[in-house]
Amino acid sequence: MADNRVVEGRMVTPAKLAELVEGEDVMDAEGIEDADRECPDCGGNVISVGYMPNITEFVTGYKCQDCEWSETDR
Ligand SMILES: [Zn+2]
Repeated sequence: MADNRVVEGRMVTPAKLAELVEGEDVMDAEGIEDADRECPDCGGNVISVGYMPNITEFVTGYKCQDCEWSETDR
């Protein structure tokens, strides 16, 4: 897939990125986008992914490409 990205040194798919942010499997994930912000922990590049952790919820997750920092818009 073209929109796989490197996160913490590993190539991840949108579903895998959403799983890293959520901490468990997600139902569905959209494409990975640049979040246009810096990581508050290390200053690294932050990417975002929209995903559905369950049938009724849509969340945008943010993840640093260089360290373990992540957050959601919940
Ligand atoms: Zn970071």
